[in-house]
Amino acid sequence: MSQADYRLSIASIFKETPDEWERHKDSETVATLEKNLSSITDNFSFKVPGVKAVEELTKKCISFSTIGTYCKCKFKYFLNYVLGLQPVPEEILELSYMDAGSVFHAVLSDHLGRGVPLDQSLENHLKRYSGSVNKSLFKRRFDQMLRDLEDYLEFDRIRSSELGERVLHTEFAFGFDDSEDSSLHLTNKICFRGFIDRIDMLENENLFIIDYKSGTSSSSAVPEQLIIYSMAVEQAFSNEGRYVNGGEFRLIKGKTKSKPFGVEYEDGERVWRFRKNLNFLTYDPAESGRITDAELVEAIEGVVDSIASGEFSAETRKNEEPKGCFLCDFREICDLLKWRQKGVPTDG
Ligand code: SF4
Repeated sequence: MSQADYRLSIASIFKETPDEWERHKDSETVATLEKNLSSITDNFSFKVPGVKAVEELTKKCISFSTIGTYCKCKFKYFLNYVLGLQPVPEEILELSYMDAGSVFHAVLSDHLGRGVPLDQSLENHLKRYSGSVNKSLFKRRFDQMLRDLEDYLEFDRIRSSELGERVLHTEFAFGFDDSEDSSLHLTNKICFRGFIDRIDMLENENLFIIDYKSGTSSSSAVPEQLIIYSMAVEQAFSNEGRYVNGGEFRLIKGKTKSKPFGVEYEDGERVWRFRKNLNFLTYDPAESGRITDAELVEAIEGVVDSIASGEFSAETRKNEEPKGCFLCDFREICDLLKWRQKGVPTDG
C-alpha cells in the first residue's frame, strides 16, 4: 500500500475531518493501523500473503463467526481479522442491536439457568449497557425489554413442555483458556471454541441445543454454528454417552420463534436437517437444509483455503454483493475502496 493509500485510509477512518486527524495522528490507534497496513505488500490489490490470515485461523481456536464473517464479506474479514481494525461504535440514543442482544442473552441465562427474578436480572444487566441515560429513558427501555422477555418466556415454557425438555446448562463455554470444556478440533488444522446459550435435556436423556437470536428475523441464524456447537457438546458429554438429537434457534422477538433442526442417520452417515428457510453460509446443498458431517468439513476447509489464498474482495463467498453494508462498522473504509475502484490516482 502506498503512502497515499495509507493517508486515505486514515482520513476515511476519521471521516476526512482535518481536526480529528490532528487530534489522533500520534495516537496508538493510528500507530497500530500503520503497522498493520505496512504488512500489505501488494500495491492495493487487497491480496496479502496468506500467512498472517491463515495464522489467525490455524494457530489458535476460532469462533464460527470468524468463518461466517468471511462468507458474508471477504473484505470485512480482511479489515477485521487480518488488519485487526476495531471500529469504535457510534453513540446512539437507543441501545445498539449488539448491546440489546447481550442484555437479552444474559437475562435469560440468569433467569432460566440460575432462577434470578426476571426484573432484577434485567435491571442489573441493562444498567451495565445504559451508561448515563436519564431515568425516564432507562425506564422506557426496561419496560419494553421486560415485555419482550415475558412474551418470549411464555413461548419458551410452552415449547419446552411440547418437546419434553428441561434446562441442563446455560452459557456453556468450550475452548477458552478459562473454560472447563475443551475446544472442538474439526480437523488437524481447524479448531473451534464457542459459547452456547443453552443445552436442554430431553425425556430420553439426550441433548437439545438452543441458540437465542435477539432480532425479529432469522437472518443472523447460521446452521453451521449449531452443528459445531452440537459436536462440541457431544464431545463434552461423551463420557455420559449422551447425544444431540436436535436443537433450534429461538427468536426472542420474532413472530415464528423457533427454527429447529434434527439429526438423522442415512447409511451410517450423520445428516443434519434444518428448515428450508435457513441457508448455510459455507455450503450450497443439493437438497435444501441438508448437510452431512463430511460435507460440513469440506465446506469449512474450502473457506479456510480461500482465506489462505489471500482472496479478500468486497464480495460474499458466492462472489455476490454483501447484504450487510448498511449496518457494517467498516462502511467508511469501504468508501475508500469504492473511490479507488473508480480509478482515482493514488499518488495525490
Ligand atoms: S461495508 Fe459492505 S463491502 Fe464493506 S466491509 Fe462492510 S460488508 Fe463488506
